[in-house]
Amino acid sequence: MPFHDVIGQARAIGFLQRALITGRIAHAYLFNGPSGVGKRAAALAFAQALNCDMKQRSDDSYQLTATPDGCGKCRTCRNIANGLHPDVQVIEPDGATMKIEQIRTLEADAVLVPYEARWKVFILDGAERMNEQAANALLKTLEEPTKDTVFILLTSTVSALPPTIASRCQTVTFVPLPHGQIEALLREQGMEPSRARLIASLSGGSIERALSPEVASLPATRDLLLEAVGRGLRDGPAALVDLAEKLSKDREKLQQQLEILSAWLRDLMVAKASGRTDWLVNDDRGDALACLAKELPMDAILEGLRAVHTAMDNLVRNANPRLSTEDLLLRFSEALPSGLLPVSV
Ligand SMILES: [Zn+2]
Repeated sequence: MPFHDVIGQARAIGFLQRALITGRIAHAYLFNGPSGVGKRAAALAFAQALNCDMKQRSDDSYQLTATPDGCGKCRTCRNIANGLHPDVQVIEPDGATMKIEQIRTLEADAVLVPYEARWKVFILDGAERMNEQAANALLKTLEEPTKDTVFILLTSTVSALPPTIASRCQTVTFVPLPHGQIEALLREQGMEPSRARLIASLSGGSIERALSPEVASLPATRDLLLEAVGRGLRDGPAALVDLAEKLSKDREKLQQQLEILSAWLRDLMVAKASGRTDWLVNDDRGDALACLAKELPMDAILEGLRAVHTAMDNLVRNANPRLSTEDLLLRFSEALPSGLLPVSV
């Protein structure tokens, strides 16, 4: 998809389009941002904009007045979008890591002139998963730029990438999409408004997650999580340690669980402060939230929310997920000993 189909990354795309207008294309880019927010789509769009047939035919560079973008319709644009273009390659980790053989193949290819396009584009998706050998090999390639070749490294964890590599790249930052934008998209696709709001707020700003099939089970996941937390708090410290271990096994899932807790506590705060339940994210559980808001003091709710946000920050900073989750549940046990569901329902 060309740039105009990439949703909500105006800053990143504006930056790339300026490079196209000025003709100052960096040898290597690092697209940094959470997963599922459009990094790969933007990288492919950049490859299209660089190589689009319509552009090649008319003029070598984009006019200042025009918005530089691939047409999305010509043979080159279509082949790039479908992964069929010989000069635009997407490299992904082979199993758990990106290996040196993969970088060697890429290296050998990078020194050849483009087959048919103007620019060769290598997109390394999940670049932080390069092993050390692969990273060293890539570093060499980046240190000896080849003409008409662009490397685009995609990562959601820039801290896991060797600084020597990151410093060779022009960083382009991708941001989580605003919930409102995801909500609007879901509604456009015919989703019922209150459900679209719930899913958007639990998507972590990721379109990919909002559109994934597992999203249908989010309300059930939320209810199970709230019950499990309540049970853990009632059963005591050992149960909380067990629960922390269970919740932190999968990093992606943990992030989602934290978002669920954050949305729940935010709703609780709104219900407590305003006494209203008509614009909650967890619209379907308005009664439970109203009840719980009556039972809990505002201080406890705020402390719970702070604890969740600390755990989210820890996750971003690559802290040990199990320890962060234990810490979170411990803070819950002090602030919210009776759990996150009303006692009376
Ligand atoms: Zn085109």
